[in-house]
Amino acid sequence: MSSSPFETVDCVVIGAGVVGLAVARALALAGRDVIVVEAAEGIGTETSSRNSEVIHAGIYYPKGSLMARACVAGRRMLYAYCGEHGVPHLNCGKLIVATNDAESAKLAEIKGRAEANGVEGMRLLTAGEAMAIEPNLQCTAALLSPSTGIVDSHSYMLALQGDAEGHGAMFAFHSPVRQGRVVEGGIEIEVGGTEPMNLRCRLLVNSAGLHAPTLAKKIAGMPSDRIPTAYYAKGNYFTLTGRSPFSRLIYPVPVPGGLGVHITVDMGGQAKFGPDVEWIDGIDYTVDPHRADKFYAAVRRYWPGLKDGALQPGYAGIRPKTVPQGAPAQDFVIQGPAEHGVPGLINLFGIESPGLTASLALAEQVRDIATT
Ligand SMILES: Cc1cc2nc3c(=O)[nH]c(=O)nc-3n(C[C@H](O)[C@H](O)[C@H](O)COP(=O)(O)OP(=O)(O)OC[C@H]3O[C@@H](n4cnc5c(N)ncnc54)[C@H](O)[C@@H]3O)c2cc1C
Repeated sequence: MSSSPFETVDCVVIGAGVVGLAVARALALAGRDVIVVEAAEGIGTETSSRNSEVIHAGIYYPKGSLMARACVAGRRMLYAYCGEHGVPHLNCGKLIVATNDAESAKLAEIKGRAEANGVEGMRLLTAGEAMAIEPNLQCTAALLSPSTGIVDSHSYMLALQGDAEGHGAMFAFHSPVRQGRVVEGGIEIEVGGTEPMNLRCRLLVNSAGLHAPTLAKKIAGMPSDRIPTAYYAKGNYFTLTGRSPFSRLIYPVPVPGGLGVHITVDMGGQAKFGPDVEWIDGIDYTVDPHRADKFYAAVRRYWPGLKDGALQPGYAGIRPKTVPQGAPAQDFVIQGPAEHGVPGLINLFGIESPGLTASLALAEQVRDIATT
């Protein structure tokens, strides 16, 4: 660690993605002095701007999991927040579509799981009912999720930042945290970048997304056996030229590792397909145009009208996984002193989907851990 003097602050949040921003806001609203240190030039440049921007209902996650609880609670909070803060969003609903009898049989199971999680209004539709409300669809049955929606994630993050700043939080961009160590009464961190600084804080929240495990390893005093290995599962998107043929989001029955190649639309009306699941070793956002072949095949199962050449490579996001390919699905991990034994340190690991939807609920949980 550097020998320069340490400035003492109350709370440091590492990372200005949607979760770090929500945490900073929650802590600031609770009267804490907060500084957010972010390696990039602005908010939300990593996973928070590389996702589907869907407000998930909370359908698929195991009952009682943090994902299930935080998604359902976070979704309700997010709709309310967007309404109150003028954040563009649309409660458009979604259809999960089956394209054969085996998939049709799974829909009832998915509905049961959703209801066990507290998701409201789920309704099984016959093929005729589904195709009546979405005439371009082909399916054998469908499950309607009326509480699913979409949000302009950047506007949402700007609102969170504004709220946090309005309650005294400060932001330092171009400020990568290099390393840290646990000391008496808190944690010291060394911040590099254009204006390097050393900070000593009472509370450190590691909300560094894909980099959270690597960063945790660089905090001397954090038990390494509590830090998960970081795995990455890329999700590639292809965009559609022209308007979406559907007014709701259309999802196939889920596949291992992801939700299947679905069609979503953003608040600007741009339709996109994806994300698929591509396990990778390092962070690489390139979209291989050849993957389009698989997209055509996957999408034509429920939208036979997709024309050759209609898909363009879009963008990619990377799921921060804490388990390798083939392992049972992971849950969100929020690790406080009760889990790792280090006072004043909270790590967030594996905050993949539905982290955007769950952000306000996750933030409340971090705030509550910090205040107990
Ligand atoms: C393909 C894909 C699709 C998804 N779709 C949805 C969806 O439709 N709905 C939904 O609810 N969720 C979705 N998600 C999940 C959601 O996008 C994430 O859960 C959420 O964006 C995570 O936010 P975060 O703040 O934890 O991480 P990030 O947005 O990655 O932010 C982490 C921040 O930490 C910063 N950082 C890293 N290291 C350091 C360091 N050493 N010092 C300082 N700063 C650092 C980074 O620069 C970054 O800004 C999707 C995810 C993926 C990958």
